Amino acid sequence: MIIEFSAEEEMLRQQVRRFAQEKILPLTAKVEETENVGPQLVKMMGEQGLYTIFIPEQYGGVGLKVVSICIVREELCKVSSQADLAFTYGGLGTYGITYAGNEQQKKKYLPRVVKGEMVGAFALTEPSAGSDVAAMRTTARREGDYYVLNGEKIFITFSDVAKFWLTFAKTDPTKGRKGISLFIVDVPTPRAEMRRFPIIAGLPEISLIFTDCKIPRENLVGAEGDGWDIALGATLNTFRITVGAAALGMAEAAFAEAYRYAQKREAFGQPIGYYQAIQLKLADMATEIEAARWLVYRAAYLRDKGVPRNLKMASMAKLFATEVAGRVTDEAVQIHGGYGLCKEFKVERLFREARMPRIYEGTSEIQRLTIARELMKRGIED
Ligand SMILES: Cc1cc2nc3c(=O)[nH]c(=O)nc-3n(C[C@H](O)[C@H](O)[C@H](O)COP(=O)(O)OP(=O)(O)OC[C@H]3O[C@@H](n4cnc5c(N)ncnc54)[C@H](O)[C@@H]3O)c2cc1C
Repeated sequence: MIIEFSAEEEMLRQQVRRFAQEKILPLTAKVEETENVGPQLVKMMGEQGLYTIFIPEQYGGVGLKVVSICIVREELCKVSSQADLAFTYGGLGTYGITYAGNEQQKKKYLPRVVKGEMVGAFALTEPSAGSDVAAMRTTARREGDYYVLNGEKIFITFSDVAKFWLTFAKTDPTKGRKGISLFIVDVPTPRAEMRRFPIIAGLPEISLIFTDCKIPRENLVGAEGDGWDIALGATLNTFRITVGAAALGMAEAAFAEAYRYAQKREAFGQPIGYYQAIQLKLADMATEIEAARWLVYRAAYLRDKGVPRNLKMASMAKLFATEVAGRVTDEAVQIHGGYGLCKEFKVERLFREARMPRIYEGTSEIQRLTIARELMKRGIED
């Protein structure tokens, strides 16, 4: 079995690397964790043509390409997590429309996303419904030409930059997961508010509060009850592979920092990289990164080929790569000693950032449950 990137994919990687070094780093390096440069980044992503890989051809894109998305996320994450978010929400925040939206909705939003004029946010999680999505309490009650939304969403990343929020709510609370529907909430909409709160890494996270918030009926995506399939079947099963790629980028960046530091930091008269205890750490880190790279790109390749049973591979890729990023960034801090905890050193930020992907888009435990469920259902053959 050979996994090879096409000439086009190699070019994309080089393009993103150059873009990240020449344009993103000068913008984000000093303000990565203090200023939200999201809107500028969205514009820059559009100018670079990067959103095309999320969007179908008839709306100005080149069609969904998961391998390409992984390449971009891997490269951006080495340089700036804000840039990674700005890129990702062009896809995660719009895929519900691409997958299930009607012609009018696609024409209204997708061409503007391609140009970098707007991205969306993905509003699924609630204070009392994270892993257990079907327990969501936000409701959408039909009233004439409107739906009236009531409820709260939490951890809705990038919703302060997004121009619309793909918001999941129950149109029929008696039907469990089958009662979930998807709505486009344009920003701003009266009685839809944001509340920011600090988290471990960088910019704050955001809650969305809907209080008798009226949404036009034409903003329903798909049919009532389609929300579960759009959120989990279509969107998360695709995008969690790319979370693996983002984690891979973080791990690679931390490894590079640790490798360089080990060559120059001296202890007991020689560089610490001469000591076998440090070399073995580097060997483990390099091996795990290589294994994660194969798993992520194999899952992405299978997704692009439309191979069935991608569920198991997608979860394996996300689980393994994000856990590797946790271990590698931790060891990178260890190799830096006390300096690994100082903000001037890049590994400090990578260590905090790498803690997040093990939680969002399905925790590591939920990925294991998915893998186990697929194994029980389909056996061990494929
Ligand atoms: C940085 C960040 C960004 C995020 N961005 C978004 C976003 O843009 N949009 C969005 O909708 N959400 C977002 N989320 C929310 C994220 O998807 C949830 O936090 C995640 O799904 C877990 O839900 P929870 O936090 O409620 O934890 P819980 O579901 O309460 O889980 C708590 C613990 O219990 C475990 N657990 C739960 N159920 C089981 C089970 N059946 N078996 C074994 N263990 C279990 C979990 O794995 C976890 O360890 C984001 C979260 C973070 C941290």
